[in-house]
Amino acid sequence: MKVRVKVLISVFVTLCVLLSAGLASAVVHVKGVRYWSSKNYTRVVVDLDRKPSYTYRLLRKDPSIGKPPRLYVDIKGAALKNGIKKVVPIDDGLLMRARVGQYNKDTVRVVLDIKSIASYKVFHLFNPHRIVIDVRGEGKPSRKETLKAHRAGKRHRGLVIVIDPGHGGKDPGAIGRRGLKEKDVTLKVSKLLKWELRKRLKSSKIVLTRDRDVYIALDERTAIANSVDADIFVSVHVNASYKRTAQGVETYYLGSTQDEEALRVAARENATTASETTEILQYIIKDLERSGNQQESIRLASLVQESLAGRLKSRYRDVKSNGIKGALFYVLVNCDMPSILVEVSFITNPRDEKRLRNSAYLREIARGIADGIIRYLNGEKT
Ligand SMILES: [Zn+2]
Repeated sequence: MKVRVKVLISVFVTLCVLLSAGLASAVVHVKGVRYWSSKNYTRVVVDLDRKPSYTYRLLRKDPSIGKPPRLYVDIKGAALKNGIKKVVPIDDGLLMRARVGQYNKDTVRVVLDIKSIASYKVFHLFNPHRIVIDVRGEGKPSRKETLKAHRAGKRHRGLVIVIDPGHGGKDPGAIGRRGLKEKDVTLKVSKLLKWELRKRLKSSKIVLTRDRDVYIALDERTAIANSVDADIFVSVHVNASYKRTAQGVETYYLGSTQDEEALRVAARENATTASETTEILQYIIKDLERSGNQQESIRLASLVQESLAGRLKSRYRDVKSNGIKGALFYVLVNCDMPSILVEVSFITNPRDEKRLRNSAYLREIARGIADGIIRYLNGEKT
């Protein structure tokens, strides 16, 4: 009898411990606030340790209490992590500062004190969990005007093209069987692409999101493109597959997909699972369809894919074109311009891996992408 009571007590204690551990770990910890800012665009990222449940609201200016307009995000079931910086001064003309505080027992409130903004967007991404707040100002140069001037051969403000070499630093990306790292290939191709574009689009500004082996978060890459008001954003990657025979080039735009292969590629590039990717897609999809950029991104993707696959095939006959596909790539979410992600070969294919070490092959890739970008800028239809 005594033994049985003891067993029951210990089961009870174990359950209590498990339960409290479960409850404790259910709290979302707010780990910090990062931001990237420019004259016309600011991105604020709130880092968390779990998936959040949150609401947000824009509050008008309240002179009676001397408050500026504010945008706030309430994160439910949340606590501030110890030592977090509670006030982050921004002062960029759009935002004055970001503030974060424990609003009540289980709500953390993030407040942006606004100077002047024209629009904003709030969304969350996974792994690491974070809430992204993008705000924009009024004075945005019109992309249509810039493209028109370019096509008419006139000088306007000059085109801005952002090239994004995938991965870097602690994130090697995919690795080939003989040890070649995706991050090194993407950097080489991107530098060659910059060189090609600079040669062929004289008055343009070509920006690389990284020009050396450093880690840059996906949010920051998008923020760089938005803050320089880019006309085009191209993210360069190398594909990977468990099938060593998989090969070919493919180009992605931000869109929904049922294609398992596309889901797998997106999950790998986002460092998430396919189901997390699908979940995010469900709530950004409406936005996506409303944005005029999707059609333009599809046109850019088609021209780049056709030019890249065509050029490679004319020199390396076995290269396959896997076409264009829509999928959810974090780096393309809320990119405010036509934007694509190119998978330039398969690093897991032994023949491709060998070619990817050869600068002549990388140069052909860069030229192929540049051909497509120029056809797009010249207004060529697909
Ligand atoms: Zn990649």
